[in-house]
Amino acid sequence: LTQLFRPLDMLGMVYRTIRQGLIDMAEMFRLLDEPQEVSDRPGAPALAIRQPSIVFENVVFGYEPDRRILKGLSFAVPAGQNFAVVGPSGAGKSTLARLLFRFYDPQEGRILIDGQDIAGVTQESLRAAIGIVPQDSVLFNDTIGYNIGYGRGDSTQEDVLSAARGAALMGLIDRLPQGFDTEVGERGLKLSGGEKQRVAIARTLVKNPPILLLDEATSALDTRTEQDILATLHRVSENRTSLSIAHRLSTIADSDRILVLNEGRLSESGTHAELLRHDGLYAEMWARQAAEAEAMIEAAAE
Ligand code: ADP
Ligand code: MG
Repeated sequence: LTQLFRPLDMLGMVYRTIRQGLIDMAEMFRLLDEPQEVSDRPGAPALAIRQPSIVFENVVFGYEPDRRILKGLSFAVPAGQNFAVVGPSGAGKSTLARLLFRFYDPQEGRILIDGQDIAGVTQESLRAAIGIVPQDSVLFNDTIGYNIGYGRGDSTQEDVLSAARGAALMGLIDRLPQGFDTEVGERGLKLSGGEKQRVAIARTLVKNPPILLLDEATSALDTRTEQDILATLHRVSENRTSLSIAHRLSTIADSDRILVLNEGRLSESGTHAELLRHDGLYAEMWARQAAEAEAMIEAAAE
């Protein structure tokens, strides 16, 4: 009987591998909302990371030739630091993320990871180095264990277990009738937004990328779940280089540095305290969000 099942197993594995590739990309496109427009240069080497720093050097980019979105953007994230990108809607924050993931190449300037121009390395190696925690994650109609492990093709049970621990998922998994083998998704157990987010974080932990890219990672959650997830993300971001794009400034206030993007340019940067003292765009956005939060608290108390 085992003889009979082996080819089926193989088929399942191939299917999963293909599906993994497709859904991986599909998920990223959904997140970043863009088709693929670049290709590898012939003989391009893989990105080799020792110190995962990120550098934008005078990056100019527009989706259409006559409309520039990024107008000479420069900044450097040292290896191991956690930076945030904030700014008004339409400032170019998601565009910056798309360029870092190399869905497009800049028209001018360069983007370097650990000193290597990302336009000159294989896309596969670039994308393997960057973990994305999307806003709302897609779960497959499969077990929760599979959903965690698919972040990397060769993940072991130990990898899945330690990722689930790291993403604070063990409380949930211990309560499930079949633990990691419980079916989730449309045909199985429905998970809450916060639980799905934790699965996405666990997936990222299995992938173990040196760089994390968080685009509005916690925006779909209620405040308490958000605080929980933020604490988890903080832990996950330690010892990694991260770039968090955020609307809600309270979620990124303790970043090593905050980059304020406005109309495709870096308009300010600094720590939260420095930017408040600077009393510019960030301080204005902060005051506005604080007033909104207060109004909500008052409305709730009535
Ligand atoms: P943010 O994330 O800061 O809100 P985006 O980077 O998404 O801003 O968008 C910056 C600008 O680029 C916006 O004016 C937006 O309309 C434009 N834009 C985004 N995607 C495309 C696209 N695929 N084609 C043309 N313009 C786009
Ligand atoms: Mg955006």
